[in-house]
Amino acid sequence: MNNDKQGGFFNFGGPGGPKLPDPKKMGGGWKFSVVYVIVLFFGIGLFNYIFTNNVNPPIPYSEFKQKIESGEIIRVEMNDSFFIGYTNKNPAQNIFKIPQNLRYTSPGNYYRAVPLNDPALIALLDAKKVEYFAVSREGNAIFGFFFTWILPILFFFMIWRFVMKRMGGAMGGVLSIGQNRAVIVAEGDVKTRFADVAGVDEAKDELVEVVDFLKSPKKYTEIGGKIPKGVLLVGPPGTGKTLLARAVAGEAGVCFFRMSGADFVEMFVGVGAARVRDLFKQAREKAPCIIFIDELDAIGKSRFNNFSGNDEREQTLNQLLVEMDGFDASSGLIILAATNRPDVLDAALLRPGRFDRQVLVDRPDLSGREAILKIHSKDVKLDASVDLELVARGTSGFAGADLANIVNEAALLAVRAGRRLVSQPDFNEAIEKVAIGLQKKTRVLKPEERRLTAYHEAGHALVTANTPNADPVTKISIIPRGFALGYTRQMPLEDRYTITQSDLLGQIDILLGGRIAEEMISGEYSTGAANDLTRATDIARKMITDYGMSERFRNVALTSRSAGSLGTEDHHEPMFQREYAESTQQYVDEEIARIVESRFAKTKNTLDNLRETLDRVAAALLEKETLDEKEFKALLQTSALGQC
Ligand code: ADP
Ligand code: MG
Ligand code: ZN
Repeated sequence: MNNDKQGGFFNFGGPGGPKLPDPKKMGGGWKFSVVYVIVLFFGIGLFNYIFTNNVNPPIPYSEFKQKIESGEIIRVEMNDSFFIGYTNKNPAQNIFKIPQNLRYTSPGNYYRAVPLNDPALIALLDAKKVEYFAVSREGNAIFGFFFTWILPILFFFMIWRFVMKRMGGAMGGVLSIGQNRAVIVAEGDVKTRFADVAGVDEAKDELVEVVDFLKSPKKYTEIGGKIPKGVLLVGPPGTGKTLLARAVAGEAGVCFFRMSGADFVEMFVGVGAARVRDLFKQAREKAPCIIFIDELDAIGKSRFNNFSGNDEREQTLNQLLVEMDGFDASSGLIILAATNRPDVLDAALLRPGRFDRQVLVDRPDLSGREAILKIHSKDVKLDASVDLELVARGTSGFAGADLANIVNEAALLAVRAGRRLVSQPDFNEAIEKVAIGLQKKTRVLKPEERRLTAYHEAGHALVTANTPNADPVTKISIIPRGFALGYTRQMPLEDRYTITQSDLLGQIDILLGGRIAEEMISGEYSTGAANDLTRATDIARKMITDYGMSERFRNVALTSRSAGSLGTEDHHEPMFQREYAESTQQYVDEEIARIVESRFAKTKNTLDNLRETLDRVAAALLEKETLDEKEFKALLQTSALGQC
């Protein structure tokens, strides 16, 4: 039997869902055997009742003996639990041939007594010429067997089943302990579309290609093109990674295996690996399809830096790597995965042929937030006062899930107040409510902080643009990320293995640019640049101690590098040891201060000359929250001083 024919939705016992037995494996079905056991149980009880209760109550043994002596009893039947003595009354009615059926015998025809170990009884019976015989409990032998053998085994079997189930094994017991718990959503069942996702346009564009491949793989394979096997969605929680993966499946119209990384991690070593194997086996049978592994970091954690040595996870990860290498992407199988901790992922996962494409799913900018708010308030009744753009403005740094939450909260507030339409004040209150919860995870900026951040990032970007040989700015953002208020991203034009002294000084300039710009508009220093200063100081220190770029210790390395073992190099900074005198330390400190001071003065001069451009970039940032390379360049070009 093939699952296909069942159509619809298969739940293999995914989290939360009821566990349905796999019809292939279950045969008669587990539920039926439970019914059988119960029926049998009652049947036996009834039998027992009939045969033990609805008969004459036993009489005392002494009385029984007396009735033998008096000749009233002429025949005695002995079994394990009773002596039955048949009387001489109405012998025609005696049913000696079926002695068990006492029920049908009239009560006066027999007496019962509980047996005693009484050797004298046989002598008495012989003396009285009473016919006697022993009856083995043939009729009850089957039940005895049932009670002593079958029932305990059944009982233990049921307990075992229950335990297996609790431990996450599927219904089939030990044979299918590795069966996956993926939720399989059949073709056409995914209702999510790209239109349901907003504010993450870059990620969407990337995934459109994936959908196109799943729809018409021939187009790509005929030309000899290779489609990535794995696409990794990376971004903070609640930005819509899971939603995007569903949208890909929905748009492509193929079936969709969804599983969370945590589902692979089990108590027993090898279970996770077996699940991975099973998942891929099922997926291959159903190709074209999408496997989506949510929260990949649960299994994909780096195998280095892992002191606990989790064998199970390592095996699972290895199996995943093996499976990813093993399938041919042209078969129409694509693996999507999502994580918010790309930094902890094992490097092997990111190698070509595995998750070689990474898609950043970032927090939405102003227009993105407005679009998301629109999507989520589609079915919410808003009154005329509601301005979603205003809501978007007040929610810088919020992720899609937070915005969905705001719309919902606002609707609840309106209901609580007994109104039929949601109004702007409801939204304002909802923003505050959600922001309180968010404050623990990320910064929520006040207007003045936003302005400072805009100038800070504009400063970084402008200095970058005016530093010869620096990597171009590709993105500027004042959307808070964790505890960073904003960021300026540079894209290296080429791989660099050696950096010149002027490059290093340029890096220091760029790092100082943020703080200088802040100081230019607020007249004082803030704590926002602490990280920049640490990095700038670090560069200056390394110039002196490692790269031999100071006056006094020209071409002298003041630290010695202890050999780091290969492989761990990427993960740990190699160890440095200080090998200089105390007086040298003082020189190093002073020299660091001198370098930073002189670069600060020079950079301040640069930015002072570019004040107009700085204002313009900062204003654009405040308006749009993010600027890409093109937008930034356009802002520079309208300036007489800006050079690119
Ligand atoms: P993630 O997987 O990145 O943590 P989810 O995809 O689970 O986030 O998002 C949770 C919910 O938040 C979604 O179901 C959706 O309602 C809403 N949401 C998040 N991001 C977006 C977005 N970009 N557009 C529309 N809705 C979103
Ligand atoms: Mg998710
Ligand atoms: Zn900075």
